[in-house]
Amino acid sequence: MNFGIDDLPVRDELRGKSPYGAPQLDVPVRLNTNENPYPLPEPLVERIAERVREAARDLNRYPDRNAVELRTQLAKYLTDTSGHEVGLANVWAANGSNEVIQQLLQTFGGPGRTAIGFEPSYSMHALIARGTGTGWISGPRGEDFTIDLAAAEQAVAENKPDVVFITTPNNPTGNAVPPETVLALYDAAQAAKPSMVVVDEAYIEFSHGDSLLPLLEGRPNLVVSRTMSKAFGAAGLRLGYLAAHPAVVDAVQLVRLPYHLSAVTQATALAALEHTDTLLKYVEQLKAERDRLVSELRVIGFEVVDSDANFVQFGRFDGPGGSHAVWQQILDRGVLVRDNGIPGWLRVSAGTPAENDAFLDAVRELKKEST
Ligand code: PMP
Repeated sequence: MNFGIDDLPVRDELRGKSPYGAPQLDVPVRLNTNENPYPLPEPLVERIAERVREAARDLNRYPDRNAVELRTQLAKYLTDTSGHEVGLANVWAANGSNEVIQQLLQTFGGPGRTAIGFEPSYSMHALIARGTGTGWISGPRGEDFTIDLAAAEQAVAENKPDVVFITTPNNPTGNAVPPETVLALYDAAQAAKPSMVVVDEAYIEFSHGDSLLPLLEGRPNLVVSRTMSKAFGAAGLRLGYLAAHPAVVDAVQLVRLPYHLSAVTQATALAALEHTDTLLKYVEQLKAERDRLVSELRVIGFEVVDSDANFVQFGRFDGPGGSHAVWQQILDRGVLVRDNGIPGWLRVSAGTPAENDAFLDAVRELKKEST
């Protein structure tokens, strides 16, 4: 009756652990998973239907294992938006950037190897490390959530990790990492091991600054990972990709499952890429709304971390019950935000103007009640 996970012969490192799980609650305003609040525009929905219909005629066959057309279009998107020349041979795609990260850890991490991230950061880096048998090292971040370069360099020098994760803009704090810090950590990582440095740019399209893609030049152990879940408003599609030296693309082939990217996924992603310009206009709106959230929250009297992402970390909640109590009070007003377990802080994703107004009204009310 009470038979559970721990009664099974699961791997020791999985015992007593919980799966990743942001609550999926049915509330009027959901601002908790950094999704894009805008549904795909109707002409794109039509184009997806067309492309998928074409793909359906060939579903008796396995899909293009190398996703050549899709990778070519992703390379073009990266080149067009960064000014840095990226080609088919530099790009690899998978089911969400989570799968990209998993393939990277299967290739460069694994049993007897370690990966480091500077926490608080994207919690899946540590979870995917665990799932791939890679040891996890929690590197430091400063009080203000920036990466303290000296402390980070020391952690890399001491631990000699095989993989270094740098998330910029960082999730859940929202702040970007300066390129000089990334360059210095790359050099530190090469001196210590050498190791792979993975720059997770899931939110880069929302940044005030530029992508770090140009840093790939002459740095074969650097990888930039991206996703269509945020800027392209296609979290349900599950399409992530990376840009790196062609040798990295060759290396991940050693661990990828054959035909991992379905023909339906490839067709849908290609349709979305045809509508890049329209989708990037939504990004501009979201950036303006993100900036509005930052300034309004400050006016209300919250502490807010500068944000280059489509979400904002705000606090501090040091009263009884801490941030979780406030999370519940906001939820009671019909707005779901995220408690990432960082004491004193909560995270809100930028929604539509109406959703953001609902959120701001809720926290304004709470602030009044507490003073
Ligand atoms: N990296 C970061 C920093 C993220 O926040 C997320 C999603 N929350 C991902 C990667 C994974 O995104 P996906 O698998 O949807 O591409």
